[in-house]
Amino acid sequence: MARYIFVTGGVVSSLGKGLSSASLGYLLKSQGFKVRIRKMDPYLNVDPGTMSPFQHGEVFVTDDGAETDLDLGHYERFTDISSKQSDNITTGRIYSDIIKKERKGGYLGKTVQVIPHVTDRIKEFIKKDITNEDFVICEIGGTVGDIESLPFLEAIRQFSNENGKLKSLFIHLTLVPFMKSSDEIKTKPTQHSVKELRSIGIQPDIVICRSEQSIPIDQKRKISLFCNVQIENVIETIDVKTIYEAPISFFNQKLDKQVLKYFNLRSRRKPNLKPWKKITNTVLNTRKTVNIAIIGKYVNLKDAYKSLDEALTHGGIQNKVKINLIRIESDKLKSNNIRKKLKNVSGILIPGGFGKRGTEGKIACIKYAREKKIPFLGICFGMQMAVIEFARNVLKIKNAGSTELDKRIYPVIGLINEWSKDGLIIKGTDRNLGGTMRLGIYEALLKNNSAIKKIYKSSKIKERHRHRYEVNNNLREKFEKNGLIFSGMSPDNKLPEIIELNSHPWFIGVQFHPEFKSRPLDPHPLFSSFIKASKSNYAK
Ligand code: GLN
Repeated sequence: MARYIFVTGGVVSSLGKGLSSASLGYLLKSQGFKVRIRKMDPYLNVDPGTMSPFQHGEVFVTDDGAETDLDLGHYERFTDISSKQSDNITTGRIYSDIIKKERKGGYLGKTVQVIPHVTDRIKEFIKKDITNEDFVICEIGGTVGDIESLPFLEAIRQFSNENGKLKSLFIHLTLVPFMKSSDEIKTKPTQHSVKELRSIGIQPDIVICRSEQSIPIDQKRKISLFCNVQIENVIETIDVKTIYEAPISFFNQKLDKQVLKYFNLRSRRKPNLKPWKKITNTVLNTRKTVNIAIIGKYVNLKDAYKSLDEALTHGGIQNKVKINLIRIESDKLKSNNIRKKLKNVSGILIPGGFGKRGTEGKIACIKYAREKKIPFLGICFGMQMAVIEFARNVLKIKNAGSTELDKRIYPVIGLINEWSKDGLIIKGTDRNLGGTMRLGIYEALLKNNSAIKKIYKSSKIKERHRHRYEVNNNLREKFEKNGLIFSGMSPDNKLPEIIELNSHPWFIGVQFHPEFKSRPLDPHPLFSSFIKASKSNYAK
């Protein structure tokens, strides 16, 4: 049976449970163990798919098409283990399954309760789809003391009781603040948080203390004493200068060693920290910067484009440049202020998006990138906007648009049954939005002699999708005759996956989301190439 490591957090949120879990995952994998990381989210949404990025940051998409919490992105980027649908669960999903079963009479008239029905369902999730893994790291969202996370904590307590201490380990992450006024590190919040956890029957085995500065041994002893945790299991994590330092820092603090010791296991080989040291060095010592404009609806929200920000950074690491992201809200862009707003920009990126707001600003910006020959990358919605721009301004289809945004248009973008050969507006189409997204991995075939094929060095690729609308393939000939090439297509040759301009140094649109597959230790070729082109554009 796999060993289960449960990661909880206390004192405050945003302490870096995701990053700690991901780093531990890397350290264990790198020592020859098979690892899975999963996340339990206490909110009532069934999945984060319908949650606004304003509220909850980016929606991450897995190979098998699950719309998940963005922490799964951290896990994948650090461990390079592809997450699955079965790696993320929410309270909403659990309740929805239970209520469905109850309505069908599945509980045979019993009273359905949080204990045992909800907790049993959580325990099922913890073990589901696990085969020969050595470790399953389960992160519990939220903070100890929240009403919402109680059933999850109760479930992991039961799990440990049922499966034995040698199969489960509790890690609790807390904050150890530094009080300037008294020039002291304070352990009390940690003591209280652990007390809270113990009051529901969970004794942490390891406490990870997030702190601005190193914790003196006396304070560590205090934490050990009051929290009933062995001193060597009081692990400090000091704020790192770049997240890529985290695996190195946890290794230096012997987190992996203590985990293996707990389970009476021996390392199978030395963990490889060289690549992390190398990229940490590159990130910290790179001076040259490249200005990349990212134009979207949620640009001012830190986590709304998390994977994208990361993928650009990876592309920067590959090209030894720092990315200076210039975030521009699309509805602030007008054709008369574009030149000013994009003055110092070396590359322009338009990410995925939904809905009409800000689209005219995006289209005006694409026109600018196309005409001024500025490297341009359009992702999903960004590609769709590039197709509309070209149709309007080059093909002179003045009312070209997407049926997502407007019905009275010529559908260059639409649901497949809305595409039209003659440009007539389709009326009365049944548009059921629920469950109609193209989600997860799909294959695309790349055209010979295309820029994209040179970038991927392959003629067949697999990328993750999350969209409902498609580029109207009936217009392919017209587009290609005028220089916009459909250089990647679905294997049945019906759905355009990639577009590129043949008279532009670097202008590419992709219907998928390459950012989900970029890794710090293995940057995605599309981002590396985009940054390379931008760097040689106006790099400073
Ligand atoms: N809104 C567009 C669609 O559904 C694009 C989605 C996206 O960018 N992820 O097709």
